[in-house]
Amino acid sequence: MFKKIVLFLSVVSISFGYDLKPIQISKSVYQFIGKTEAPSKANGGNMVNTYWIKTDKSYIVVDTGPSYNYAKDAHKAMKKIADLPIKYVINTHMHDDHWLGNNYFKELGATIYGTKAQAKKFPVGSEAHMLSVIKKEDSANTKIINIDTFVEKDFSMKVDNTPLDFIHFDYAVHTPEDIMIYLPEEKTLIAGDILFSQRITSIRDGSVEGGLKSLDAVEKMDVKVYAAGHGKFTDKTALQQMRDYFMALKTTARKAIEDGIDINTYVKTADFSAFKDMAMMEVLHKGNLGFAYSEYEFFEEK
Ligand SMILES: [Zn+2]
Repeated sequence: MFKKIVLFLSVVSISFGYDLKPIQISKSVYQFIGKTEAPSKANGGNMVNTYWIKTDKSYIVVDTGPSYNYAKDAHKAMKKIADLPIKYVINTHMHDDHWLGNNYFKELGATIYGTKAQAKKFPVGSEAHMLSVIKKEDSANTKIINIDTFVEKDFSMKVDNTPLDFIHFDYAVHTPEDIMIYLPEEKTLIAGDILFSQRITSIRDGSVEGGLKSLDAVEKMDVKVYAAGHGKFTDKTALQQMRDYFMALKTTARKAIEDGIDINTYVKTADFSAFKDMAMMEVLHKGNLGFAYSEYEFFEEK
């Protein structure tokens, strides 16, 4: 009987887990790419990109993924590159696909940076929707913990010999507060959900106008590698795809309002056939049309 149980457990343990493989995208930055789809039992919430910055002595983790077990598996993969301590964790924004691995890194002694908006929305003891979507085996051990240090403005710091710039958006872009990390020496921008490629974004907690403004800010920066929150591209593809979608939302919503078309008719009839090949259109697009219409209903161009 005991032998049978041992055999069963060893077979099951092989089928669990996230199959995570880091891709080096610049001198010191490694990327884990998630699927461009909604979180599900099948993908375990691995539908987000997370990043590791390797200095000469330690790691900085930018976004920790959808669960404790995801974070642990990412660490296992990174140990094969170098077994270094994890000094800092940075959460780019409050959406729970980006930071539910925090408590894994806290156990290892990392200091966690994030936004006040995230702490307000997810205090210790609150519930994250992600954990009700994915399998129990994947969500096991995940706990919501406190952020140690709030990022409230732009600042720079040097970790070991690697300089990092924190860029803080104090106006709504993807969420009420978003953070990007820029590595000036390798011109790499870890943009969080300021940038997506291959799939559309969600406007639910953000703003079309804020999104366009953030893209203007990104375009003024000296960037070679664009590390997006979702989607595989690291060139300018994400910038273009975001701008095209935001501009289409803005122009169609403003035209509909000007023509006296009501919100329901707009949502039903707005022509976005040019975006039909983008992932997540089925899930997010109708909602985005509604948010865009509401935003521009009382909007005045400055
Ligand atoms: Zn995201």
